[in-house]
Amino acid sequence: MKPDCIFTDMDGTVLGHSDYEYAPVLPVLEQLAEEGIPVVVNSSKTYAEIATWLEKLNLEPPFISENGGVIYLPSRAQGPIQAQVPIRAQVPAGNKQILGTPYPQIRAFMQQVREEFDWQFEGFGDMSVDRVVETTGLATKDAEQAMQREVTEPMLWHDSEESLEAFIQLAERTGLQVVRGGRFYHVMGQHDKAKAMNWLLTESGLLGQKQRENVCVVALGDGNNDRAMLEAADIAVVLPAGNFSSLEIDAKPDGYPKQVIYAQKAAPEGWAETVRRILKDLKGR
Ligand SMILES: [Mg+2]
Repeated sequence: MKPDCIFTDMDGTVLGHSDYEYAPVLPVLEQLAEEGIPVVVNSSKTYAEIATWLEKLNLEPPFISENGGVIYLPSRAQGPIQAQVPIRAQVPAGNKQILGTPYPQIRAFMQQVREEFDWQFEGFGDMSVDRVVETTGLATKDAEQAMQREVTEPMLWHDSEESLEAFIQLAERTGLQVVRGGRFYHVMGQHDKAKAMNWLLTESGLLGQKQRENVCVVALGDGNNDRAMLEAADIAVVLPAGNFSSLEIDAKPDGYPKQVIYAQKAAPEGWAETVRRILKDLKGR
């Protein structure tokens, strides 16, 4: 037996926490490609950022950007999974499934409440590239890619706790949610990594004729925004978090996840080692 599909977070899961190191995962990705096991990147990063990483990792669509907000599918003409979509090319509208709220709509909400209440906050849409570099620590080119947003807006809050609460309530009334990340709040629609993963598994033809209950899905992540995805997989792999407060996920004998594995090492070694171990263990079944 082998996994039918692997869904993975990027930062702190495939990529090292501070150094973005990824060399140890390359031979494992090669092995997965040889065995025909698709690896689907499921990240909070933007399309532009993920596209750059897919080239480095030699991966292909489908992939999921902006916390489950957009799903990029392989070119239909070439069939699922094996398709060679030129990543840098514009993705045709039909090859993209949007689960999130369009960025201009999120920005319009933020502008409206700013004008009405004079609250002090800063979204990426308010920042220059230099300011994004300053607040994220990203290099200029990476900051430019991070600013090409489709369905989520990172925000720094410079006002009181009370006004933040009021902002969150107004956002929720508009159908949006405000998710607390490490450094930023994220203003976005009602989507998450699990909803996008399940859409790909059940609606996209990714699994061919197979039903969800007959396939083995492995998911890997390290952060709170990975929790739902890990809890919807057959085998959940938790990578140690950068701040040492790692996720705790329980296995459910009658549901998902059937098995939880805590990687001993951090990314990228932890990713490479654990996936190798899963492949070996499943082979014996
Ligand atoms: Mg992460």
